[in-house]
Amino acid sequence: MPENCTCRKCGGEGATSFPIVTFRTMTVRSGGKIKKYQAMGEVMSVELCPACIDAWTAQRAEPRTQMIKAMKYPLLLAVLAVVIHFLGTAEIVRWALCILFAGFAVAIAVSEYRRIRRETADIRACKGNFGRDHMTEELAASLLPAKHEDAHLTYVLRSRVMDAKQHQQICREYGISKKKLESVRKYLIVTPESEVNKSLQAPEITADKKPNRRNRRK
Ligand SMILES: [Zn+2]
Repeated sequence: MPENCTCRKCGGEGATSFPIVTFRTMTVRSGGKIKKYQAMGEVMSVELCPACIDAWTAQRAEPRTQMIKAMKYPLLLAVLAVVIHFLGTAEIVRWALCILFAGFAVAIAVSEYRRIRRETADIRACKGNFGRDHMTEELAASLLPAKHEDAHLTYVLRSRVMDAKQHQQICREYGISKKKLESVRKYLIVTPESEVNKSLQAPEITADKKPNRRNRRK
């Protein structure tokens, strides 16, 4: 890894150049099923300094900042519940809708609170799905486009993609299939560096399943 380049986040010297592989994920709904297509996207380098990675990690480890962001939807639902309560419809309908919306608001707030507590604890301990590499990838992703046309973009350090032992973990973190990771790893081994970005792979189906709550949120 070449050192001492300019950091893409703060513009300071002493950054490290991180080779990164982009993965494109397209989700297509058809006939009650969800098809997920994944393909390798651009391979590039992102220059980041240790101070910016530390600052990103510290910010992500702070539950209060995360909670403020996550409470947007529960608050909106709570406001809706109050608005419905003051609408002039029948008493019973008014109360039923009000309780329904308030219930949703509380359920989302509790689940987000639990998720953030769990995540921030993992980030502070630098474990689980939130190790130093993942934090570097998150910071890089914050400086790069999140989407390209209909595809959602995920950025993974090339060193991790090349290490087959990490594929299961990458799959847990980002939902990229192990099969896809292995094919990208093999492709990068055999392809000369000058050819890597010239022939971007065609997307292939990596998951074909009935929609569930987690998929629908994506
Ligand atoms: Zn920096």
